[in-house]
Amino acid sequence: MDFSKYKKSTASVWAGETDPLPNGAVTTPIVKSVAFAYHDLDEWHNVATGKAEGYIYSRNTNPTVHVLEEKIRILEGAEAATSFATGMGAISNTLFALLGPGKRVVSIKDTYGGASRLFLDFLPRYQVNVTLCGTTDFDEIEAEVAKGCDVLYLETPTNPTLKVVDIARLAAAAKKVGAVTVVDNTFATPINQNPLALGADLVVHSATKFLGGHSDAMGGVLCGTKELVEKVFQFREINGASLQADAAYMIARGMKTLELRIERQNASALTIARYLKAHPKVSDVFYPGLETHPGHDVAKKQMSGFGGIMSFSLVGSYDNVKKFLPKLQFVHLAASLGSVSTLAGPPRTTSHVELTEEQRKLLGIPESLIRYSVGIENVSDLLTDLESALATL
Ligand SMILES: *Cc1c(COP(=O)(O)O)cnc(C)c1O
Repeated sequence: MDFSKYKKSTASVWAGETDPLPNGAVTTPIVKSVAFAYHDLDEWHNVATGKAEGYIYSRNTNPTVHVLEEKIRILEGAEAATSFATGMGAISNTLFALLGPGKRVVSIKDTYGGASRLFLDFLPRYQVNVTLCGTTDFDEIEAEVAKGCDVLYLETPTNPTLKVVDIARLAAAAKKVGAVTVVDNTFATPINQNPLALGADLVVHSATKFLGGHSDAMGGVLCGTKELVEKVFQFREINGASLQADAAYMIARGMKTLELRIERQNASALTIARYLKAHPKVSDVFYPGLETHPGHDVAKKQMSGFGGIMSFSLVGSYDNVKKFLPKLQFVHLAASLGSVSTLAGPPRTTSHVELTEEQRKLLGIPESLIRYSVGIENVSDLLTDLESALATL
């Protein structure tokens, strides 16, 4: 069944699960089998050589994993999708499959910490030429791309200051020089933003975050053109960063409520960002949905909702953060984001813990910054919670 003509909420529930399921089951089974047996040797050979559809060995593909891949493929409007053990599995496999000695990648300074490590430490070991540009300096990015590159790697909105990168403009620049544009769409989710429709060739997600949405399973996905996804899949199949059926089931289950959760999180985040912006104990709020955010116009152009994540800084020093955060009741002070429960933490201890104070300053990350990932709790309870904790400062 072709789900691309249906709305995202319908596809989230049904995509990948329409075949008659065993025993009349109404939800997809977790197929734990490592290998898949054949009576007919010719059929086995055809599947093994890719001439017929089917399953051979779960490092390559698995029926439960395939259900998840189908859901994300439809939601991103892609030709093909594949999956990985984690979001970093998706990112590293993509970059290593597309790049090699003498190749060049252009990216931005504000990528997710793990991606940033690949650019700074690991890819250069394989003689990959890496150029990291100012995240919102689109002229600089265009100029670097125009010099010639193989991959343009973007992420938007970024972590932790929610900078917005103009996907359509930069993907067009990449197309001119024949470069592949890859976008990490983890923060926005396919409900709020579809990079492929804006001209990107590949989209990566940490499925650990909003897609799964319950902080109980790790995974990564990649989708885009058949040719490029196939290329990365062939590398992943061999290096073995495959997604397990149990995790795929949990993420696919989470995805059934993706639109419901994202709609709630979009609305609550905007309400909370506006509240914090007006609060005297808060010195700055970074949320692309605020008219005062420098990336608001681009965000309005390329996003249908502004997402569930914001960051804000408190007046005073880091001591105020230490005082404030433990006072919050409906917040897990933890790394990660995109869950049904609200999660918060300072980049100083979470995403940017490896950097020095000086390096964080260069990236425009105030020491008293707090990343706040809004859950699906009732927004008035979250506001009351913030209000009482801020009152103690
Ligand atoms: C968490 C995250 C990743 C990495 O995903 P894992 O599942 O933790 O490997 C990549 N990109 C972004 C934007 C993230 O938030």
